[in-house]
Amino acid sequence: MNERIRLAVPNKGRLVEPTLALLHDAGLVFEEHHRSLIARVQNYGLDILFVRTADVLEFVRDGVADLGVTGGDLAAEAGSELPVIRSLGYGRCRLAVAVPEDSAYGRPEELAGARVATAHPASTRRFFAELGVDVEIITLSGAVEVAPRLGLAEGIVDLVSTGSTLAMNGLRAIADVLPSEAVLVANPAAEAARGAEISAIDTMIGAVLAARDRKYLMMNAPAARLQELEDLLPGLESPSVIPLAHEGMIAIHAVVGADDIWGLLPRLKASGASGILVLPIEKLVP
Ligand code: AMP
Repeated sequence: MNERIRLAVPNKGRLVEPTLALLHDAGLVFEEHHRSLIARVQNYGLDILFVRTADVLEFVRDGVADLGVTGGDLAAEAGSELPVIRSLGYGRCRLAVAVPEDSAYGRPEELAGARVATAHPASTRRFFAELGVDVEIITLSGAVEVAPRLGLAEGIVDLVSTGSTLAMNGLRAIADVLPSEAVLVANPAAEAARGAEISAIDTMIGAVLAARDRKYLMMNAPAARLQELEDLLPGLESPSVIPLAHEGMIAIHAVVGADDIWGLLPRLKASGASGILVLPIEKLVP
C-alpha cells in the first residue's frame, strides 16, 4: 500500500510533448531516460510509465498503473468504465464523419447502406445506431483518410483538428461524432484506496491548467476611478485594492482570463489605469 503511485503516459505521438510539459510545469522532477518504460519522480512518490497511447487505458484498467493520460476519443472507444478525473485542455480534436469532396453526401443519414472506414469502430457504431442508420463499418488501424480513394469505403469516421489532412485527401466533414481532448483517467480500485494521493496529484495538475488560462494584472489608478475599473474586470475574481503613498492613488491587482487581456488593456488605460503589468501565473489553486 505504500508503493509509489504509477501514472501511464504516451511514449510516442502527439500527446507526448504536451503531457511532459504539463508534468514538468506541475513541478515534478524526473529524467525521461529516452522515454524508456519507467521514470522515477525525484520529488514525489510517483513513477511515470511510458507506454503507447493506445495501451494507456489497458495499463490503467489492469491496475498496472493507477492513473493514465490518453485521448478522450480512445477512452470513448474503449467504452471505458474508468473514471475521467480531469480533461487536460490539449490534444483537442473531434471525431468526424467525412466523405469525398465531390460526393453527393450532405448528411450522415445519407450514408445508409454505405461502407464507413474508421479506426474508431465502437464510437462509429454508436453514432450511426443512435441515428438509426445502418452502415457497414470497415475497421482500419491507420490511414483511414485514404480508404475512399482506394475504393474501400464511401465515407470515413476519423479524428480532425484543423481539417487540413481531410482537405489534402479530398475529403470534407459532414458531421461530428464526438469532441476529444487529452484526459486523466484513474483505476477505480486505486481511486478508492488511494483517493488522497490521487487527489493531490490531480490538484497539482489542475493548478497548472488553471494558471495557463489566466494572467495576473497589476496597475495603478486614481482612487476616484475604482468603480469604473472594477466594472471592467471580470467579476469572478474580485481584485485586491491597495492604497499608494501618493494621495488619491491606488494599486489594483486582479487575476483575469488570458484571452481577455488584449481587449482589456486599452479599456483599462482609457479608464485611468497606468503602469499596467501583465504577469504569468505559475500555479493557481482556487
Ligand atoms: P498519436 O496517434 O499517438 O499521435 O495520438 C493520437 C491521439 O492524439 C488521438 O487519440 C487523439 O486523442 C489526439 N489527437 C489530437 N489531435 C489529433 C488529430 N488531428 N489527429 C489524430 N489524433 C489527434
